[in-house]
Amino acid sequence: MKAEDFPQEIKPFILPNHDGELVYRCLGCGQQYGIEKLLYTCPACKQVLLIYDLKFESLKKIPGNIWRKIFDYRKMLTIPALKGIYLYHEFIGPIIPLDTVIYLGEGHTPVIEANNFLQKKVGARFYFKNDGQNPSASFKDRGMASALSYINCLVRKGYVSDVLAICASTGDTSASAALYASFIQPDVKSAVLLPHKKVTPQQLAQPLGSGAAVFEIPGVFDDCMKVVEALSENYNVALLNSKNAWRILGQESYSYEIAQAFEYDMENRVVVVPIGNAGNITAVMNGFLKFYETGIITSLPKILGVQSEHANPVYRYYLEPDAAKRKFEPVIVKPSVAQAAMIGNPVSMPRVIHLVDVYNSMSGKQNVFFVEVTEQSIMDWELLANRNGHIACTHGGESLAGLVEARRLGIVGENDIAIVDSTAHAIKFSGFQEKYFEKSLPAEYNISSNPALVNAPVYIHPESLEKVPAPGKPLHGNDFDQFVEQTSKEIAKRLSLKRVPKA
Ligand SMILES: *Cc1c(COP(=O)(O)O)cnc(C)c1O
Ligand SMILES: [Zn+2]
Repeated sequence: MKAEDFPQEIKPFILPNHDGELVYRCLGCGQQYGIEKLLYTCPACKQVLLIYDLKFESLKKIPGNIWRKIFDYRKMLTIPALKGIYLYHEFIGPIIPLDTVIYLGEGHTPVIEANNFLQKKVGARFYFKNDGQNPSASFKDRGMASALSYINCLVRKGYVSDVLAICASTGDTSASAALYASFIQPDVKSAVLLPHKKVTPQQLAQPLGSGAAVFEIPGVFDDCMKVVEALSENYNVALLNSKNAWRILGQESYSYEIAQAFEYDMENRVVVVPIGNAGNITAVMNGFLKFYETGIITSLPKILGVQSEHANPVYRYYLEPDAAKRKFEPVIVKPSVAQAAMIGNPVSMPRVIHLVDVYNSMSGKQNVFFVEVTEQSIMDWELLANRNGHIACTHGGESLAGLVEARRLGIVGENDIAIVDSTAHAIKFSGFQEKYFEKSLPAEYNISSNPALVNAPVYIHPESLEKVPAPGKPLHGNDFDQFVEQTSKEIAKRLSLKRVPKA
């Protein structure tokens, strides 16, 4: 639909024109800084930052029901810059001109209701939100679209040039960073640091294919992160980890989409997310808060953060019920099939602590919860979900296992409806499925294979067959007829197929 064809009341807003004034705000000392420069931590106290719009109040002048229509009508536009996360431009990047937006197809991922069988098993109504259907096959694209659009904007304005974008990654951040940076090369080049052997072959292939400089470092993600932090403090590079507050802004789109997908009715909803570096849960809470403050939604959904017992620092922090006594302690991670969340010292922890407080107080009750799950339950729920029509990755399995656990603990009630984050596509982590099927997961994962979930290919080569085809060596005539007949017979036998009576 063309902009001029929209209803009168929507027309003035259909193209974003909110004159925002964004600043970085330090969560430690409260100091504010202009966004002309890339900042990751507070120059005064080194604490992490979040981006705030000093003119956010003016968004409240537009009533919630008009905002809802703006977003719904905007979906009918064909302007690429508004097709992705910037459909919510006023909320995630009002200073980014539309002609500097990088859109590679991110966002607006489908929300898929589970079938009856699976909902019964889980004991709750729930949907998967398939963030693995983003261009690099994980939710990280939401944050990268934001961070790289911002950098692109700085480049076009002549504020920076020859940017080297750098990140540490458990695999998906680097895949996404390299993809988005490659779109605006040579102005922006990318380099990624990965923990050696701690990303899957698929994830490693992605930044290589996008042309990034790829470095593998001994240790785990937390070690990579320290190296990248040293690089970003001492050299002229653009840090693309979620320490970069622009990432958080873009990832808020996940919440906005959930609101929109459920017609802005968040009553009895539970939003379930796995936690690694805690950027995602930060963005999810902040997104819902912004929509709530502007009256776009009228209640805040319950937030459920899930961690594996092999990487559970956030869960442990909140085990202490008395807020005054809580003390954050990083943990030493153990191998986890939810490998992208295998992080012992989450960079966004101060943001989480701040936003959980705000979220609970705005909700007027405890509305953010944390559970931990076993590695066994992560794999079993992932595999069961995927046997029922889903494409959940191990982290989607982790989220679902978390929902089951929260149901058991009574955190999630009978009438709640959950939206479960499958943060990446199953195929990125298919190596864990393969090892589960082959019963070859190393003991430290603490996972045994449930035979009911195991699957394996069967090689068919009937003994009676003398000749079989091979690449470049096709069979002909009777040999070929024999091959087709005997092979199909063998498969029919194994599947117990019944013969169709000859007419
Ligand atoms: C990054 C990532 C996570 C963890 O998200 P955080 O923002 O680091 O908490 C979970 N799942 C997948 C697939 C990821 O790539
Ligand atoms: Zn500060």
